[in-house]
Amino acid sequence: MVRDVLIVGAGPAGLAAAIYAGRSQLDTLVIDQMMPGGQLLITEEIENYPGFYEGITGFELSEKFRQHAEKFGARIENGKPVESVDLDGDIFVVKAGGEEFRGKTLIWAAGSTPRKLNVPGEAEFVGRGVSYCAVCDGAFFKDKTVAVVGGGDSALEEALYLTKFAKKVYLIHRRDKFRAVKIIQDRVKRNEKIEPVLNKVVVSINGKDFVESVTLKDTVTGEESVLPVDGVFIFIGNEPNVVPVAHLVDTTEQGFIITDEEMKTKTPGLFAAGDVRHKPLKQVVTAASDGAVAAMSATKYLEEKEG
Ligand code: NAP
Repeated sequence: MVRDVLIVGAGPAGLAAAIYAGRSQLDTLVIDQMMPGGQLLITEEIENYPGFYEGITGFELSEKFRQHAEKFGARIENGKPVESVDLDGDIFVVKAGGEEFRGKTLIWAAGSTPRKLNVPGEAEFVGRGVSYCAVCDGAFFKDKTVAVVGGGDSALEEALYLTKFAKKVYLIHRRDKFRAVKIIQDRVKRNEKIEPVLNKVVVSINGKDFVESVTLKDTVTGEESVLPVDGVFIFIGNEPNVVPVAHLVDTTEQGFIITDEEMKTKTPGLFAAGDVRHKPLKQVVTAASDGAVAAMSATKYLEEKEG
Protein backbone atom coordinates (compact mmCIF):
# COMPACT_ATOMS: atom_id res chain seq x y z
CA MET A 1 0.00 0.00 0.00
CA VAL A 2 1.40 3.39 -0.99
CA ARG A 3 0.28 6.30 1.19
CA ASP A 4 0.02 9.85 -0.12
CA VAL A 5 1.99 11.18 2.84
CA LEU A 6 4.26 9.38 5.28
CA ILE A 7 5.27 11.44 8.28
CA VAL A 8 8.10 10.34 10.56
CA GLY A 9 7.86 11.85 14.04
CA ALA A 10 4.70 12.53 16.04
CA GLY A 11 5.85 15.66 17.82
CA PRO A 12 4.30 19.09 17.17
CA ALA A 13 5.77 19.28 13.64
CA GLY A 14 4.64 15.80 12.59
CA LEU A 15 1.18 16.09 14.12
CA ALA A 16 0.58 19.55 12.64
CA ALA A 17 1.64 18.14 9.26
CA ALA A 18 -0.83 15.28 9.80
CA ILE A 19 -3.66 17.73 10.55
CA TYR A 20 -3.00 19.70 7.36
CA ALA A 21 -2.43 16.62 5.18
CA GLY A 22 -5.59 15.04 6.60
CA ARG A 23 -7.63 18.17 5.85
CA SER A 24 -6.28 18.03 2.29
CA GLN A 25 -7.88 14.57 2.18
CA LEU A 26 -4.54 12.85 1.67
CA ASP A 27 -4.03 9.32 2.91
CA THR A 28 -1.68 10.08 5.80
CA LEU A 29 0.33 7.82 8.10
CA VAL A 30 2.46 9.05 11.01
CA ILE A 31 5.22 6.79 12.32
CA ASP A 32 6.84 7.39 15.71
CA GLN A 33 9.50 5.51 17.63
CA MET A 34 7.53 5.89 20.86
CA MET A 35 4.14 7.56 21.40
CA PRO A 36 2.81 10.88 20.08
CA GLY A 37 4.22 14.02 21.68
CA GLY A 38 7.94 14.10 20.99
CA GLN A 39 9.73 16.50 23.30
CA LEU A 40 6.37 17.74 24.63
CA LEU A 41 6.26 14.54 26.64
CA ILE A 42 9.34 15.59 28.60
CA THR A 43 8.16 19.16 29.09
CA GLU A 44 6.27 19.98 32.27
CA GLU A 45 4.51 23.15 31.19
CA ILE A 46 4.14 25.13 27.98
CA GLU A 47 3.31 28.79 28.51
CA ASN A 48 4.14 30.28 25.12
CA TYR A 49 1.87 28.34 22.75
CA PRO A 50 -0.76 30.80 21.50
CA GLY A 51 -4.11 30.51 23.19
CA PHE A 52 -2.88 28.62 26.23
CA TYR A 53 -2.09 31.71 28.29
CA GLU A 54 -2.75 29.89 31.54
CA GLY A 55 -0.20 27.24 30.56
CA ILE A 56 -0.78 23.64 29.56
CA THR A 57 1.27 20.56 30.34
CA GLY A 58 3.33 19.09 27.51
CA PHE A 59 1.36 15.86 27.81
CA GLU A 60 -2.04 17.58 27.54
CA LEU A 61 -0.97 19.62 24.52
CA SER A 62 0.42 16.54 22.76
CA GLU A 63 -2.89 14.74 23.40
CA LYS A 64 -4.78 17.63 21.81
CA PHE A 65 -2.47 17.52 18.79
CA ARG A 66 -2.92 13.74 18.48
CA GLN A 67 -6.72 13.91 18.71
CA HIS A 68 -6.75 16.75 16.19
CA ALA A 69 -4.63 14.76 13.69
CA GLU A 70 -6.80 11.65 14.11
CA LYS A 71 -9.99 13.72 13.72
CA PHE A 72 -8.88 14.56 10.18
CA GLY A 73 -8.14 10.96 9.34
CA ALA A 74 -4.40 10.54 9.99
CA ARG A 75 -3.32 7.12 11.27
CA ILE A 76 -0.53 6.90 13.84
CA GLU A 77 1.83 3.94 14.23
CA ASN A 78 3.50 4.03 17.65
CA GLY A 79 6.62 2.24 18.86
CA LYS A 80 8.23 1.99 15.42
CA PRO A 81 11.80 3.32 15.32
CA VAL A 82 12.92 3.99 11.75
CA GLU A 83 15.67 1.70 10.54
CA SER A 84 16.11 3.01 6.99
CA VAL A 85 14.66 5.26 4.32
CA ASP A 86 15.18 4.54 0.62
CA LEU A 87 13.69 5.41 -2.72
CA ASP A 88 12.09 2.79 -4.95
CA GLY A 89 11.76 4.89 -8.11
CA ASP A 90 9.96 7.94 -6.75
CA ILE A 91 8.29 6.07 -3.85
CA PHE A 92 9.73 6.47 -0.34
CA VAL A 93 10.27 3.18 1.47
CA VAL A 94 10.52 3.53 5.24
CA LYS A 95 11.52 0.49 7.27
CA ALA A 96 10.45 0.93 10.88
CA GLY A 97 9.89 -1.49 13.73
CA GLY A 98 10.41 -4.45 11.40
CA GLU A 99 7.72 -3.27 8.96
CA GLU A 100 7.86 -1.53 5.59
CA PHE A 101 5.85 1.61 4.84
CA ARG A 102 5.61 3.22 1.39
CA GLY A 103 4.69 6.80 0.55
CA LYS A 104 4.53 9.12 -2.44
CA THR A 105 5.86 11.88 -0.19
CA LEU A 106 7.75 11.86 3.10
CA ILE A 107 7.74 14.52 5.80
CA TRP A 108 10.74 14.00 8.07
CA ALA A 109 9.86 15.48 11.47
CA ALA A 110 11.98 13.18 13.64
CA GLY A 111 13.13 15.90 16.04
CA SER A 112 16.30 15.69 18.05
CA THR A 113 17.88 13.87 20.99
CA PRO A 114 19.66 15.38 23.99
CA ARG A 115 23.33 16.19 23.40
CA LYS A 116 25.74 14.36 25.70
CA LEU A 117 28.52 15.93 27.73
CA ASN A 118 30.80 13.00 26.84
CA VAL A 119 32.67 13.07 30.15
CA PRO A 120 33.76 10.13 32.32
CA GLY A 121 30.90 8.88 34.49
CA GLU A 122 28.08 10.26 32.30
CA ALA A 123 27.12 7.04 30.49
CA GLU A 124 27.91 4.93 33.57
CA PHE A 125 25.48 6.82 35.83
CA VAL A 126 22.49 7.20 33.46
CA GLY A 127 19.49 6.15 35.55
CA ARG A 128 21.64 6.29 38.70
CA GLY A 129 21.81 10.05 39.05
CA VAL A 130 22.42 11.24 35.50
CA SER A 131 19.29 12.35 33.63
CA TYR A 132 18.23 14.25 30.52
CA CYS A 133 14.59 14.63 31.63
CA ALA A 134 13.51 16.54 34.72
CA VAL A 135 9.83 15.68 34.24
CA CYS A 136 10.69 11.97 34.16
CA ASP A 137 13.22 11.83 37.00
CA GLY A 138 12.81 14.99 39.12
CA ALA A 139 10.61 13.33 41.74
CA PHE A 140 13.45 10.92 42.64
CA PHE A 141 15.42 13.88 44.01
CA LYS A 142 13.11 15.04 46.78
CA ASP A 143 15.14 17.02 49.33
CA LYS A 144 18.36 16.18 47.49
CA THR A 145 21.00 18.38 45.89
CA VAL A 146 21.24 18.32 42.10
CA ALA A 147 23.26 19.99 39.37
CA VAL A 148 21.75 21.22 36.11
CA VAL A 149 24.21 21.70 33.26
CA GLY A 150 23.54 24.26 30.50
CA GLY A 151 22.65 27.89 29.98
CA GLY A 152 19.75 27.82 27.48
CA ASP A 153 15.97 27.90 27.91
CA SER A 154 15.83 24.17 28.68
CA ALA A 155 18.46 24.24 31.43
CA LEU A 156 16.93 27.21 33.21
CA GLU A 157 13.33 26.03 32.86
CA GLU A 158 14.22 22.55 34.08
CA ALA A 159 16.26 23.99 36.97
CA LEU A 160 13.15 25.90 38.05
CA TYR A 161 11.04 22.75 37.73
CA LEU A 162 13.52 20.74 39.81
CA THR A 163 13.18 23.20 42.72
CA LYS A 164 9.75 21.58 43.29
CA PHE A 165 11.63 18.54 44.57
CA ALA A 166 15.29 19.26 45.27
CA LYS A 167 16.43 21.30 48.25
CA LYS A 168 19.26 22.83 46.20
CA VAL A 169 19.91 23.19 42.46
CA TYR A 170 23.34 24.21 41.16
CA LEU A 171 23.07 25.65 37.66
CA ILE A 172 26.41 25.00 35.98
CA HIS A 173 27.16 27.01 32.84
CA ARG A 174 30.34 27.30 30.83
CA ARG A 175 30.10 31.08 30.37
CA ASP A 176 29.25 34.04 32.61
CA LYS A 177 25.99 34.81 30.74
CA PHE A 178 22.98 32.61 30.20
CA ARG A 179 21.53 32.14 26.73
CA ALA A 180 17.93 31.67 27.99
CA VAL A 181 15.27 34.37 27.47
CA LYS A 182 15.18 37.13 30.07
CA ILE A 183 11.84 36.20 31.64
CA ILE A 184 13.25 32.78 32.60
CA GLN A 185 16.56 34.26 33.78
CA ASP A 186 14.60 36.61 36.08
CA ARG A 187 12.67 33.69 37.56
CA VAL A 188 15.91 31.85 38.18
CA LYS A 189 17.41 34.89 39.91
CA ARG A 190 14.39 35.12 42.19
CA ASN A 191 14.52 31.44 43.16
CA GLU A 192 16.51 30.98 46.34
CA LYS A 193 17.05 27.27 45.77
CA ILE A 194 19.02 27.87 42.56
CA GLU A 195 22.70 28.79 42.74
CA PRO A 196 24.38 29.65 39.43
CA VAL A 197 27.87 28.19 39.02
CA LEU A 198 29.33 30.20 36.14
CA ASN A 199 32.42 29.78 33.96
CA LYS A 200 32.60 26.09 34.85
CA VAL A 201 32.50 22.90 32.81
CA VAL A 202 31.90 19.40 34.13
CA VAL A 203 34.99 17.24 33.58
CA SER A 204 33.72 14.12 35.31
CA ILE A 205 30.73 12.69 37.14
CA ASN A 206 31.77 10.67 40.16
CA GLY A 207 30.32 8.14 42.57
CA LYS A 208 30.20 4.54 43.63
CA ASP A 209 26.74 3.08 42.96
CA PHE A 210 25.03 6.45 42.44
CA VAL A 211 26.25 9.95 41.58
CA GLU A 212 28.03 11.55 44.52
CA SER A 213 29.77 14.56 42.97
CA VAL A 214 30.90 16.35 39.83
CA THR A 215 34.39 17.58 39.12
CA LEU A 216 34.34 21.07 37.64
CA LYS A 217 36.95 23.03 35.75
CA ASP A 218 36.97 26.82 35.79
CA THR A 219 36.99 28.04 32.17
CA VAL A 220 38.92 31.19 33.15
CA THR A 221 41.52 29.97 35.65
CA GLY A 222 41.65 26.28 34.71
CA GLU A 223 41.30 25.39 38.40
CA GLU A 224 39.47 22.13 39.25
CA SER A 225 37.02 21.65 42.13
CA VAL A 226 34.63 18.97 43.37
CA LEU A 227 30.96 19.74 43.97
CA PRO A 228 28.97 17.15 45.97
CA VAL A 229 25.59 16.42 44.30
CA ASP A 230 23.09 13.55 44.23
CA GLY A 231 22.08 14.01 40.61
CA VAL A 232 23.11 15.68 37.36
CA PHE A 233 20.55 16.90 34.82
CA ILE A 234 22.09 17.67 31.45
CA PHE A 235 20.45 20.21 29.09
CA ILE A 236 23.12 21.33 26.65
CA GLY A 237 21.09 21.31 23.46
CA ASN A 238 20.06 18.61 21.05
CA GLU A 239 21.42 16.62 18.13
CA PRO A 240 19.09 16.28 15.10
CA ASN A 241 17.79 12.80 14.23
CA VAL A 242 18.84 12.61 10.59
CA VAL A 243 20.76 9.37 10.07
CA PRO A 244 18.11 7.42 8.07
CA VAL A 245 17.65 10.31 5.60
CA ALA A 246 21.22 11.66 5.64
CA HIS A 247 21.82 10.42 2.06
CA LEU A 248 18.75 12.28 0.78
CA VAL A 249 19.24 15.73 2.33
CA ASP A 250 21.79 18.50 2.75
CA THR A 251 22.67 19.41 6.32
CA THR A 252 24.54 22.12 8.19
CA GLU A 253 27.84 21.31 9.90
CA GLN A 254 25.81 20.55 13.05
CA GLY A 255 23.68 18.07 11.10
CA PHE A 256 20.43 20.06 10.87
CA ILE A 257 18.52 19.57 7.59
CA ILE A 258 18.63 22.47 5.14
CA THR A 259 15.28 23.25 3.50
CA ASP A 260 13.82 26.17 1.61
CA GLU A 261 10.89 28.09 3.05
CA GLU A 262 8.48 25.48 1.65
CA MET A 263 10.30 22.83 3.76
CA LYS A 264 11.63 21.15 0.59
CA THR A 265 14.88 19.21 0.86
CA LYS A 266 17.13 18.43 -2.08
CA THR A 267 15.09 15.24 -2.81
CA PRO A 268 11.77 15.88 -4.60
CA GLY A 269 8.86 14.76 -2.42
CA LEU A 270 10.93 14.78 0.79
CA PHE A 271 10.20 17.60 3.24
CA ALA A 272 11.65 18.32 6.69
CA ALA A 273 9.90 20.03 9.59
CA GLY A 274 10.50 20.95 13.22
CA ASP A 275 13.63 20.70 15.35
CA VAL A 276 15.41 18.51 12.81
CA ARG A 277 15.55 21.49 10.44
CA HIS A 278 18.05 24.34 10.40
CA LYS A 279 16.18 27.45 11.56
CA PRO A 280 16.59 30.37 13.96
CA LEU A 281 13.86 29.58 16.50
CA LYS A 282 13.00 26.13 17.83
CA GLN A 283 9.66 26.28 19.62
CA VAL A 284 6.42 24.29 19.64
CA VAL A 285 4.78 27.05 17.60
CA THR A 286 7.51 27.07 14.93
CA ALA A 287 7.52 23.25 14.78
CA ALA A 288 3.75 23.30 14.21
CA SER A 289 4.20 26.00 11.57
CA ASP A 290 6.87 23.93 9.77
CA GLY A 291 4.55 20.93 9.80
CA ALA A 292 1.70 22.91 8.26
CA VAL A 293 3.94 24.30 5.52
CA ALA A 294 5.46 20.87 4.80
CA ALA A 295 2.02 19.28 4.45
CA MET A 296 0.81 21.99 2.07
CA SER A 297 4.02 21.61 0.03
CA ALA A 298 3.45 17.85 -0.11
CA THR A 299 -0.11 18.50 -1.29
CA LYS A 300 1.15 20.83 -4.03
CA TYR A 301 3.84 18.31 -5.04
CA LEU A 302 1.22 15.55 -5.44
CA GLU A 303 -1.17 17.84 -7.34
CA GLU A 304 1.55 18.85 -9.78
CA LYS A 305 2.66 15.25 -10.23
CA GLU A 306 -0.70 13.55 -10.45
CA GLY A 307 -2.89 16.36 -11.72
P1 NAP B 1 20.44 25.65 23.47
O1 NAP B 1 19.59 26.87 23.36
O2 NAP B 1 21.24 25.21 22.31
O3 NAP B 1 21.39 25.85 24.72
C1 NAP B 1 22.36 24.89 25.03
C2 NAP B 1 23.15 25.39 26.23
O4 NAP B 1 24.09 24.38 26.60
C3 NAP B 1 23.92 26.68 25.94
O5 NAP B 1 23.86 27.52 27.04
C4 NAP B 1 25.34 26.17 25.69
O6 NAP B 1 26.34 27.05 26.12
C5 NAP B 1 25.40 24.93 26.57
N1 NAP B 1 26.29 23.91 26.04
C6 NAP B 1 26.30 23.38 24.79
N2 NAP B 1 27.23 22.41 24.69
C7 NAP B 1 27.83 22.34 25.90
C8 NAP B 1 28.86 21.54 26.42
N3 NAP B 1 29.47 20.60 25.71
N4 NAP B 1 29.23 21.73 27.71
C9 NAP B 1 28.60 22.66 28.47
N5 NAP B 1 27.62 23.45 28.04
C10 NAP B 1 27.23 23.28 26.76
O7 NAP B 1 19.56 24.35 23.86
P2 NAP B 1 18.20 24.25 24.70
O8 NAP B 1 18.21 25.08 25.91
O9 NAP B 1 17.96 22.79 24.82
O10 NAP B 1 17.12 24.84 23.70
C11 NAP B 1 16.98 24.28 22.38
C12 NAP B 1 15.97 25.12 21.62
O11 NAP B 1 14.67 24.95 22.20
C13 NAP B 1 16.28 26.62 21.70
O12 NAP B 1 15.95 27.19 20.46
C14 NAP B 1 15.36 27.11 22.78
O13 NAP B 1 15.01 28.48 22.65
C15 NAP B 1 14.16 26.20 22.62
N6 NAP B 1 13.43 26.05 23.89
C16 NAP B 1 12.43 26.92 24.15
C17 NAP B 1 11.74 26.84 25.34
C18 NAP B 1 10.64 27.81 25.60
O14 NAP B 1 10.33 28.63 24.75
N7 NAP B 1 9.98 27.79 26.73
C19 NAP B 1 12.07 25.85 26.27
C20 NAP B 1 13.11 24.98 25.99
C21 NAP B 1 13.80 25.09 24.79
P3 NAP B 1 26.58 28.47 25.38
O15 NAP B 1 25.47 29.36 25.81
O16 NAP B 1 27.92 28.87 25.86
O17 NAP B 1 26.56 28.13 23.91
